[in-house]
Amino acid sequence: MMAARRAMEAGGRMAMEQVLRLGAMRQTGVGLRQMMEFGQQPNDTKLLQSAQFLRKELSIRIARRVLELDNLPFGLSHQNAVLKVRDWYLESFCDLQSFPEIRDPTDELAFSDMIKMIKVRHNDVVPTIALGVQQLKNRLKSKPSSPELAEIQEFLDRFYLSRIGIRMLIGQHLSLHENNSEPGCVGQINSKMSPMHVANVSSEDARAVCMRVYGEAPDVTIYGDPDFTFPYVPSHLHLMMFELVKNSLRAVQERFMNSDREAPPVRIVVADGAEDVTIKISDEGGGIPRSGLPKLFSYLYSTAEPPQLHYPDNVNDGRVTMAGFGYGLPISRLYARYFGGDLQIISMEGYGTDAYLHLSRLGDSKEPLP
Ligand code: ATP
Ligand code: MG
Repeated sequence: MMAARRAMEAGGRMAMEQVLRLGAMRQTGVGLRQMMEFGQQPNDTKLLQSAQFLRKELSIRIARRVLELDNLPFGLSHQNAVLKVRDWYLESFCDLQSFPEIRDPTDELAFSDMIKMIKVRHNDVVPTIALGVQQLKNRLKSKPSSPELAEIQEFLDRFYLSRIGIRMLIGQHLSLHENNSEPGCVGQINSKMSPMHVANVSSEDARAVCMRVYGEAPDVTIYGDPDFTFPYVPSHLHLMMFELVKNSLRAVQERFMNSDREAPPVRIVVADGAEDVTIKISDEGGGIPRSGLPKLFSYLYSTAEPPQLHYPDNVNDGRVTMAGFGYGLPISRLYARYFGGDLQIISMEGYGTDAYLHLSRLGDSKEPLP
């Protein structure tokens, strides 16, 4: 018994020494263009190269997250939900570290299976961390001061941004194995993505949620060139547009549902500039008071009823709520920034809100590495 425990502790110490060593190494960024060029004609050599790169790079990135999870302010590190997430990261780190050198296609296949598992293991990281932060908020007797809040906010931004990068890298590697992808697609990247098309699909998805919650949904009108395309990751754009349209629909719906005036449509404009593709989502949902603007991108703020303290239902039964965690805007902004874009919200209180989503068009911005 004792010997077994000692062995386990020694194992844990050794793992932590490795975490410290790798966590101090430099991360290597990979941009959109680079991923696209690399993935164009996958072959065994490329697969090997990619796997060898990832074995090291994922270890470094994941080690940094373990260290950060260990050093959060006001005992956030000791919340059960946070400890659980830390275990997932450490487990994945150990999987990567104990994986033998990747020399041939058989090794590479085993490696791909392993990182696929890692991706699944980390599926629920965002809501689980959100839960940990909620638990902490409920436990703290006094309201945390603003520098303390800012520290949590900055940690969460770094943490979630890093997660987007890790999942993108794993996804791209796995996709090198699939040669049945659509023409023009390199893994998750579509070199000819139509933003109008994505805007359409995400608006309809957001309207469907609104219908379910309120029994009706304002219209969404989209302006832009339907033939215009550029290289981007459709699933990322879908996520951002879905969140923004959902916010607009909620604001318009809440404002007009008990009035005799007809709800004005949400308007989306897609503009293709030389540097950026900008998408504007405008609503007449009454806007946001200026004093509320600084809190918009906070993970700790929402005007909606806080969701249940156990698992959020968008994890449990796959259903999405209209609003609730206050995560829609900050997470969307991270997705935009991941490929060099940004998200801005401008409001006219008493009238409505404009969200400007800027997507960098050139695809060669450097990956941000928290
Ligand atoms: P969820 O995580 O489900 O998106 P949420 O919608 O509350 O929850 P955010 O999308 O980050 O979180 O938005 C934060 C808050 O900003 C909202 O609760 C709402 O009060 C305000 N807000 C966002 N967009 C608009 C809008 N278009 N009009 C009015 N208020 C808005
Ligand atoms: Mg929202």
